[in-house]
Parts: sequence; C-alpha cells; structure tokens
Amino acid sequence: MIRKLISRVFRSKKPKAGHSEPAVIPVSSHGITRDRLSSGSRRTCETLQAAGFKAYVVGGAVRDLLIGAEPKDFDVATDATPEEVKRAFRRSRIIGRRFQIVHVMMGQEVIETTTFRGQLDANTKKDEHGRVLHDNVFGTQAEDAARRDFTANALYYDPGTETIIDYHHGVGDLKARTLRMIGEPRARYREDPVRMLRAVRLAAKLGLSIDPEAKKPIRDMAGLLENVPAARLFDEMLKLLTSGHAVKCITQLRDEGLHHGLLPLLDVILEQPMGEKFVMLSLANTDERIRKGKGSSPGFLFATLLWHEVLAHWDKMKAKGEAKIPALFQAMDNVLDVQGEKLAITRRIAGDIKDIWALQPRFEQRAGKRPYALLEQPRFRAGYDFLVLRAQAGEIDMEVADWWTRFQQADGEQRATLLMPEQAGDKKRRRRRKKPATATVDRGNAE
Ligand code: ATP
Ligand code: MG
Repeated sequence: MIRKLISRVFRSKKPKAGHSEPAVIPVSSHGITRDRLSSGSRRTCETLQAAGFKAYVVGGAVRDLLIGAEPKDFDVATDATPEEVKRAFRRSRIIGRRFQIVHVMMGQEVIETTTFRGQLDANTKKDEHGRVLHDNVFGTQAEDAARRDFTANALYYDPGTETIIDYHHGVGDLKARTLRMIGEPRARYREDPVRMLRAVRLAAKLGLSIDPEAKKPIRDMAGLLENVPAARLFDEMLKLLTSGHAVKCITQLRDEGLHHGLLPLLDVILEQPMGEKFVMLSLANTDERIRKGKGSSPGFLFATLLWHEVLAHWDKMKAKGEAKIPALFQAMDNVLDVQGEKLAITRRIAGDIKDIWALQPRFEQRAGKRPYALLEQPRFRAGYDFLVLRAQAGEIDMEVADWWTRFQQADGEQRATLLMPEQAGDKKRRRRRKKPATATVDRGNAE
C-alpha cells in the first residue's frame, strides 16, 4: 500500500514516456458515469467493442467532463483500422488522405473516430525545422497516448466499464489544474508549433496553468509558427477567438511573446492604442455572446480585427487623392490580400468581412431615403453592431450610433422626424450617382 502510494507520488513528479502501465481509474474515484457521454459516442464505442475492438472516448471530452466543463464534441479512439470502422457502421465515411479518420453518423451527431496513432520514428517526414509533415502510422494505445500533446488530453474513457485509462498522470495534473506536456516540451513544439497556441488557449479556457517546463520554451520558439501552413493557423486562431475566452487568450499570447509574426494584424493593432481598444472591446463582446450561447460569426470577428489596418490604408489612399469610397474598397482589398495570405481566410468569410466594412460609410448618411435602404440591407445588423463597437472604442461619435439605434426602434412616422435635413452636398452626390462611373458605392453589398 505504502509502496504504491510512494510510486504514485513519484510518478506524479516524473511521468514516464508512454510505455509504463497506465493507471485504470474507477468511476468511484473519477465520478464520470457513462450517461454523461453523448449517446452517439457511447453507441460508437459499444458497437466497436461488441465487434471485438478497443474503443474509447478520448481527448477534450474526457478532460472537460473531469473539470466540469461542457464538452464541445466527443471523439473516439480505437484499434480498429479506418476500413474496419467503416464496415461496422452503415452511416459512416472515411475522410482525409494521409491519416484517415472515420466520421460515424449517429442521428444528428458526427463522431470523429480515429485509429490509434503510432510512434514517430526515423522515417517520419519532417521539414527543415523539425515540423512533422506526414504522420500516418497506426500504433498501440500506449503509443497513441504518447503522441497526444498534454497529459490532460491523453485520457481514455471506456463506457463499458466506466473507467478512465490514464498513461501520463493526466487526472492528477487536472486535479492540480496544470497543463503539462507529454514528453520533452521543446521537442514537442518543434514537431508541431501549433501546440504553443493550444497551450495558451486550453489554459485560458479551462483555467489551468501551463506547467513551467512547457511554458518556458515558448518565448524562444514562437518564431517556428511562421512555418505553419496558413490554413492550420487560421483554424487555430478561430478556435482561440471563439473559445469564449478570447480576451484572456490574446492577453496571454502577448505575455508569451506569441503574437508577433503569428498574426501580422495583431502586431500592428495591439501596438496602436486605438486599435487595441477596438479589438479588445470586440473580443470582450464576442466572449460574452459565446458564453451566453449566442455564437459569433467569423466574418464579424475578423472584420473587427482588421479594421484599423483598413483605416490606415484608407487614409493613405485618400491622401494620394483617391475619392473616399473607391479608396475604401482599395484599402479593403489590400488588407485582405495581405492578411488573407497569412491566414487563409476563406472566400466566404472574406465576403462577409467586406460587406460589414462597405456598410460603414453608409451609416454617415442620415438624410433622405438612404437610411431606409440601409435598414433593408441583409447585413444591416452586423454593420450596425460594428458601428456601435467603433463608437464605444471612441473612433467615431457615439451620437451616430445612438441615432441608428433610435432610427431602428422608431416606427414609420417617428422615423421621418429623425431624418437629418438634406444638405446641398447630398443632392449633388445623388445626382452624380446616376452616372455609371460611380457604381462602386454598391459593390460591397453585391458580394
Ligand atoms: P477543444 O476543446 O478545442 O476541442 P481538444 O483538446 O479536444 O480541445 P481537438 O483539436 O479536438 O482539441 O483535439 C482532440 C485531441 O487530439 C486532443 O485532446 C489531443 O489529445 C489530440 N491533439 C489535438 N491536437 C494535437 C496536437 N497538435 N498535438 C498532439 N495532440 C493533439
Ligand atoms: Mg475536441
């Protein structure tokens, strides 16, 4: 008994790398009963187990249940090959080319089912910085556990026995609220630099502290993020920004020196006081929406992140003598070209972003028929929310945002009384608009 205790304490200090016997933790100790799983993930495991395979709920879901958070999704890990999984479920399909995983459809749920991954070895393809490129060998459960990033993410829940299989002392680390890297942190960051971002995001989201061993190298190694493909960075940034803890994440990224190079937009924005205020307000707003379960649109989010870049370019174009609206469109394209390359912003999201930006100058027009037309725009609501943020951040006069709040809420007759008097300039502009050459004004809404 005492020896067991001593060995457990010892192991809690120095978890071994993957090949020691795992701890099998009973439900009486961890308290997670099988009814806490989604029915789809439970049925997926049960079907695979009935067919003679090993199958567990793994990763984030087990971690979140242990910590009392709501899991986002339930993933399954198994020793069945993708072909074998596919055969076990009528409604399933294999996805991915290099490392295949199977999507098992269970009612509305899609259960990502992954075959245990094997150890990296001398044949593993890496880039010149040590980043793993191909990663497609199957392995044992112990090898699979060692390939995961943090000890808290390497827990396997068996719905059959309600036990948790723990190879790396993840349950203990979670109890101590520590995010600990499996293996040697520097090596693991070299294999996949995105793990640095994951460390920050998971720590912020779950209220864990990053173990000093894992935290220390981040500052030195931040530059490795530059070699990560844009699409992957974009996915991770999106996760981070929509975690419900974006303010905390961004603040911590900055403290760790991770915002440089990672997102050129953050470099610029966070260093100019106006930009910073705007971005932080917007993130706080997004966090609140997400925590209330309202969701948030990536288009809106990135529109706010990039807005001060647009403003800077817009000013430059105007200074060069370009007319106001064409200058805005050029600035928008310019910013999206530069940032889009780094972030791989999808075309659809880029369209949403432009819509929101293009509406902004139209909020200045508060006379005649134009405000009515603006209300009818499909993206009016997002454009208005954006306007309010700009006002809150002090970029524009709050009076404009307040006017639009009143204008929306007012009924027909009241609306008319709110309208501003037409100015000479308005009429002239309207007359000019009839000429085809100024059609650019409506471009943003057509996208
Ligand atoms: P989230 O709450 O964002 O879903 P998660 O930990 O579940 O967090 P996923 O991206 O869904 O994150 O990954 C599922 C599991 O796959 C993780 O828990 C971890 O075990 C493993 N994993 C994910 N990304 C990595 C990585 N970069 N390196 C090693 N293991 C990883
Ligand atoms: Mg997950």
